Amino acid sequence: MRDVVGGLLLRAGDAVGGRARRGLTGDERSVLAAVFREGLDLDGIVVVPARAGLLGLSRRPVTLGTAIHLKGHAAPGLLVHEAVHVWQYHRLGARYVLDAIRAQGSRTGYDWRAAGTAEFAALNVEAQAQFLQDLVTTPAVGTTYPALAADALASVRTPSTPSTT
Ligand SMILES: [Zn+2]
Repeated sequence: MRDVVGGLLLRAGDAVGGRARRGLTGDERSVLAAVFREGLDLDGIVVVPARAGLLGLSRRPVTLGTAIHLKGHAAPGLLVHEAVHVWQYHRLGARYVLDAIRAQGSRTGYDWRAAGTAEFAALNVEAQAQFLQDLVTTPAVGTTYPALAADALASVRTPSTPSTT
């Protein structure tokens, strides 16, 4: 059931983002390749640069499936955050959409520090995305939380297996 609802949300996102979509720019590819290496199919990512339709009601970037809606944002950290959601989509399927909604409404939400873990997999989907965003934006995070940083990078760099896509 969760997958059905998530799938409907993904298709709604495809419909509203249909006008101005593109692939990653060279700069965006460089940012993402440095983080994900072989762990994420960069060719499969679609970028919707501007705010559009219902998804434009919030100013925050949002990712549905493999489509990243940047809403005018261009910061590398935000791009990485949203790309983590693409990575989660490949690993979790449409279920990640509802996991993200639940994480956004939870007490800890995006706060990966509050989770008190060195395991990337123990973080909720928003905390995972936020950790890698912070790691890119603030490199000192990597020296302050070396175990979590190492586990996070090892996780997202692991190529997906056919059974999980
Ligand atoms: Zn997010």
